[in-house]
Amino acid sequence: MRLAAENKSEPILPCIAAIVSQPAFRITVVQAKSQAAHSALAELNSRIIACNRCVRLREYCTQVAATKRRAYADFDYWGRPVPSFGDPDAAVLIVGLAPGAHGSNRTGRPFTGDGSGNFLYPVLYKTGFASQPNAVSRDDGMQLSDMQITSVVRCAPPGNKPLPGELANCAPYLDQEIAALENLRVIVCLGKIAFDGVLQHFRRTGKLARRGEMIFAHGAEYTLPNGQTLLASYHPSLQNTNTGKLTEAMFLKVFQRAGEIARAR
Ligand code: SF4
Repeated sequence: MRLAAENKSEPILPCIAAIVSQPAFRITVVQAKSQAAHSALAELNSRIIACNRCVRLREYCTQVAATKRRAYADFDYWGRPVPSFGDPDAAVLIVGLAPGAHGSNRTGRPFTGDGSGNFLYPVLYKTGFASQPNAVSRDDGMQLSDMQITSVVRCAPPGNKPLPGELANCAPYLDQEIAALENLRVIVCLGKIAFDGVLQHFRRTGKLARRGEMIFAHGAEYTLPNGQTLLASYHPSLQNTNTGKLTEAMFLKVFQRAGEIARAR
């Protein structure tokens, strides 16, 4: 009874405010949010790896993994949908097109083991997002800091051309991934298909009423109504990098800008 009387007279709200303002409390909340993001992304990746929604893509990836390229005859191909990779607390998300048949479809990690990755990771290393410039396999020790890498389609498509229905099948995974990245501030879209896929995500989730003037161009930067920034870049495919359409200097500038925005928190 005495306790009840004491509670009546206690200024409860000021007490709570005092507790939550303590650094230890704030650290605990941040850690709990971070652990929730880690679990959500791990659970999402498990579902992606087991996905069979696109019959054509699953058959193609399985067939490529069985027949292999001669240069990788001794390599045990991944052959399944490729999960995202990186830092669940990331402020920057890279969205690519799809795994390469003998790159990510072989190694099981985005942009790992092919020409696009050989162009991308050195730039991520120079801009402080990657722990090393070389990405050759899932167990090469690569770690990303403040960055997550994903794609609009998680299975390698023939000719690098996913069908509209396949893009639609994979879109819910992008929605769930973006929702799980609670610190996200910048999305870097590699290529027009990724750019369109991200804009469709914002339309689907009600974060963007209309596309308006947002068109794809290398180096384009748009601020979304929710405060996040969209950066567009040419895709680092060999077709673009071997022809000089995309140079390292052009690519560096995009990721330096992403870093500037992310680190201005
Ligand atoms: S592309 Fe996406 S939706 Fe289609 S099978 Fe692969 S993971 Fe599933």
